[in-house]
Amino acid sequence: MVASDPAEPSHLSAPLPYLIVGGGVAGICLALHLQEYGVPVRVADLPHQNVSSRKAAGLVNPFIIKRYALSWKGVEAYAYAHEFYVKLEKLTSKKILETPAVYRLFPNSQILSEWEKIRASRPDLQMFMGVPENAFILGKTIHRAAVPCVFRVRTKDFFASAAQILNDCLREEYISPSLLVPMPCGWRYKSDLFKGVIFCQGPALKDNPFFNGSFLRPCKGQWLRCVNPGLQEAYLSGIFLIPEEPSILWVGSTYEFSFADPYPDEAGRMRLSREFERMTGRRPEVVEAQAGIRATTKDRRPVLGSHPSYPGLFIFNGLGSRGFLLAPYLAQKISRHILFGERLPAEVSFGRL
Ligand SMILES: Cc1cc2nc3c(=O)[nH]c(=O)nc-3n(C[C@H](O)[C@H](O)[C@H](O)COP(=O)(O)OP(=O)(O)OC[C@H]3O[C@@H](n4cnc5c(N)ncnc54)[C@H](O)[C@@H]3O)c2cc1C
Repeated sequence: MVASDPAEPSHLSAPLPYLIVGGGVAGICLALHLQEYGVPVRVADLPHQNVSSRKAAGLVNPFIIKRYALSWKGVEAYAYAHEFYVKLEKLTSKKILETPAVYRLFPNSQILSEWEKIRASRPDLQMFMGVPENAFILGKTIHRAAVPCVFRVRTKDFFASAAQILNDCLREEYISPSLLVPMPCGWRYKSDLFKGVIFCQGPALKDNPFFNGSFLRPCKGQWLRCVNPGLQEAYLSGIFLIPEEPSILWVGSTYEFSFADPYPDEAGRMRLSREFERMTGRRPEVVEAQAGIRATTKDRRPVLGSHPSYPGLFIFNGLGSRGFLLAPYLAQKISRHILFGERLPAEVSFGRL
């Protein structure tokens, strides 16, 4: 019998890492979870395209204002997300969360009375729906109600903090999925071996040869950075108005399922400007226009799971307009599915499509 050589480099027996393709909020939350389970990862990302995660307002709200309903697993995901982001703040000693005062602005008396009626008849929703009040803002009286449970992830700071933890595991690199080769131990990409590959590509999944991304409905979102006319609080009313850096207001966003390119355009700017004028009674002074593409699905649910024919390939996508709410919660679910074979909730599993 040959004894093991104590001089043998330890990396030869180290477990293979998982390759995460895409470092938006989905890929980053997944990497942090796998790493916490002691599993090595590599995250390959191209952060400089019109990437949704880097353009998001970062609001985390389990309540769907327009439909007076909670989003799927809203309360669970909200509580989990808060704990996750706070933990990241503690680990990095950097602030990434804020809790702005957020209000529903009522554009007319019909919507105001609808809000009052639903609030009175649904005690379970009262914690998400404040009591309507009048306020004098920007020289006029408005009708509004607090939306109390919203917090906000400062997206830039979130990615900086995650990079601090993931460090060398994070690479700016394009992965060409068609170059992945199945091996007895996992998957090979060029000269590197991986235990498995998780595709967290957002709308770029459409070019993936393993997972047919035709179930995704890309949805363009445009927003403007405008000079803040003096709003202290955030307002939601079809679009959002969020005070950002000193003197800047974020005004967004559009939902466009039909678009020619991923860039901001004149039609989007006009639409947002009109909404801004309706909400504030003023013309916007636009500093910059931005756009990002959300990956949404027909049933508005994310998509997670294993490939039915290729063991070791996984998908985590379809976060729609609530990525910062859902990604931490679902990252935990898919990590446990990958590592321990735990079943995923049927409503979000890839198998439902
Ligand atoms: C204007 C706007 C406002 C929004 N506001 C909010 C909000 O307030 N709250 C909220 O929760 N959500 C919001 N969203 C939605 C949120 O941004 C998305 O749900 C979320 O970012 C989706 O994250 P993701 O990681 O799945 O995909 P993405 O953000 O699209 O990230 C995918 C990443 O994968 C990379 N990638 C793809 N293919 C490859 C490859 N082959 N090799 C290497 N890298 C690859 C891409 O470059 C990208 O970096 C908003 C979206 C928009 C557009």
